[in-house]
Amino acid sequence: MLIIQKYGGNSLKTPQKIKAVAKRIVDLKKNNSLVIIVSALGDTTDELLSLAHQVCQKPAQREIDMLISTGEQMSSSLLAMAIHSLGKKAVSLTGSQSGIVTDNFHTRAKILAINPLRIKGLLKQGYIVVVAGFQGATLESEITTLGRGGSDLTAVALAVALKAKRCEIYTDVEGVYTADPKIVPEAKRLKEINYEEMLELSFLGAEVLQLRCVEMAEKNNIPIYVASSFNSCKGTLIK
Ligand code: ADP
Ligand code: ASP
Ligand code: MG
Repeated sequence: MLIIQKYGGNSLKTPQKIKAVAKRIVDLKKNNSLVIIVSALGDTTDELLSLAHQVCQKPAQREIDMLISTGEQMSSSLLAMAIHSLGKKAVSLTGSQSGIVTDNFHTRAKILAINPLRIKGLLKQGYIVVVAGFQGATLESEITTLGRGGSDLTAVALAVALKAKRCEIYTDVEGVYTADPKIVPEAKRLKEINYEEMLELSFLGAEVLQLRCVEMAEKNNIPIYVASSFNSCKGTLIK
């Protein structure tokens, strides 16, 4: 079976967490084809943006993309190494190497097309493919990023392009709640919600799923499953 999973930054904050995610992935491999999308470790993207503004008052958007896309490149290679050390074949790919083509709207680029030939070839050879989320490249090979929280969009877009049955998003809470569970302790986890309800939550600022990723899932009618990367408790199905 083809399985598409995305792991967010808080799930990959430390070497121990990266190894724990690698273990989950290796346990799932068996005969499955796995495509794993990752965000940058912890607060890397914010730290890179802060660095940019310490050296330049008004950095060019192109250079911002060159800089912040490195966060996901770092986490994808580290996760591939951690998987490899558990005895499985894994390869990391940038957005561009994954065939993600975008327009040239730097820092908030739109995905125009995905040519997943290279991913498909690697899956056929038995590799676990680890894709750097949040990024793509224009036809001129300029690196772009997809807006904050954009690894969610990479995951859904790849699930659509590879014709997966669903897209799994693993994060630091056990699914989608009626409100942010870190702020409202009595918030309840939702077992299942529809795209419209999720769009509203994302629109109102629930960063658990990026708005554009929910829009793309609805448009392509692909279910999203949101759950914890730290345990195997049931999460939320959006469909
Ligand atoms: P990731 O690094 O996995 O992408 P994010 O920080 O982008 O994680 O999104 C997960 C966070 O979204 C949770 O830690 C939670 O605080 C926040 N959040 C806000 N609203 C909600 C909600 N309604 N349900 C679940 N999480 C929510
Ligand atoms: N690392 C990027 C961000 O912080 C993308 C993501 O986390 O999805 O916005
Ligand atoms: Mg996120």
